[in-house]
Amino acid sequence: MKVGILGAGQLGRMLAEAGKGLGMEFRFLDPATEISARGLGEHVCAAFEDVDALDEFREGLDVVTYEFENVPVESVRWLAERVPVHPSPEALRVAQDRLFEKRHFRELGVAVPPFADFFFRDEFNEALRRIGLPVVLKTRRFGYDGKGQRVIRAEADIEQAWKDLYGIPLFIEGFVPFDREVSLLAVRGRNGEFRAWPLVENHHREGILRLSIAPAPAISEAVQRRAEAHAKRVMETLGYVGVLAIEFFLCGSELLANEMAPRVHNSGHWSIEGSETSQFENHLRAVAGLPLGPTGMKGHSAMVNLIGETPSAVSSWPNAHFHDYGKKPRAGRKAAHLTLVEDSLDRLRGRLDELKGATGLPAV
Ligand code: AMP
Repeated sequence: MKVGILGAGQLGRMLAEAGKGLGMEFRFLDPATEISARGLGEHVCAAFEDVDALDEFREGLDVVTYEFENVPVESVRWLAERVPVHPSPEALRVAQDRLFEKRHFRELGVAVPPFADFFFRDEFNEALRRIGLPVVLKTRRFGYDGKGQRVIRAEADIEQAWKDLYGIPLFIEGFVPFDREVSLLAVRGRNGEFRAWPLVENHHREGILRLSIAPAPAISEAVQRRAEAHAKRVMETLGYVGVLAIEFFLCGSELLANEMAPRVHNSGHWSIEGSETSQFENHLRAVAGLPLGPTGMKGHSAMVNLIGETPSAVSSWPNAHFHDYGKKPRAGRKAAHLTLVEDSLDRLRGRLDELKGATGLPAV
């Protein structure tokens, strides 16, 4: 089985690593010359919009998937006319636009923060009046890791936020005083088979994910079931095949959907060691039409993202799984991650404290 992957960053790398065990071969399309997935498959180095390159890329592939959600949907549609592509171009179209995503959630009865879109300034003012401060002003597209967002807390912030972002499609949503941020990773096979992992608790700093704890502590069965039901409905309505991640704000026992990623997700990296089947393997199983693997837990996991330069003590930390992405370190860039798996949450917390104390990793 030969799998094509659009994008060859660390997600492509970890997909290909998981696929080796399934006897799969890989080809990547990525405009970058230095790719994290180097050595794990062929690399067509070209723009995603280059039709000749798309033609070269799809030759002899059994299935195409993507690890990067900002690939042009037109290129994915072009490929889907010639080779099976999963998740579908429609899933990608919805997931690329935060407004489409929010509308899709709302139509399916998945609770979301109040939101409103606008174009002209008077419509923006009207939307602000309707939602009420504080709000988050967000770009509809190409926002990730908190980029392209402004929190408007008071009247005095409105002018600057508008000046900063105006000119690109925007929307606002109510600022949610959440207790925690959690994500659900789920996978759906070609035959509709569905599996999910336990909700994961996520900690961000400066908009970037720093730490994930799986399973998220103190989640009731009812909340877990509701999150899974939401994911199942979203996937069924989009004819979705592969891994989907949905990020939620947890307020008491209420789940408000923030956004979804139509691909394997950073908050699922712990599953390489912490689950019976990793998100990477199950994504490949799904898109290739293979039976899905069990998603049982091997204990309590913590995944620490390593941003920029990795302190050397971290890479050799005992009883930890270190994954280096083979990228040139740059400030703010995800360069590696570390996973700890323990048999109790207390022990996991203790080990996280030791790790932070000894290595100077910033607290989350
Ligand atoms: P996003 O890029 O939408 O995932 O947002 C990045 C981070 O900003 C989230 O992980 C939250 O911590 C925060 N955030 C986004 N939207 C809201 C909101 N409506 N209310 C409060 N915090 C938010």
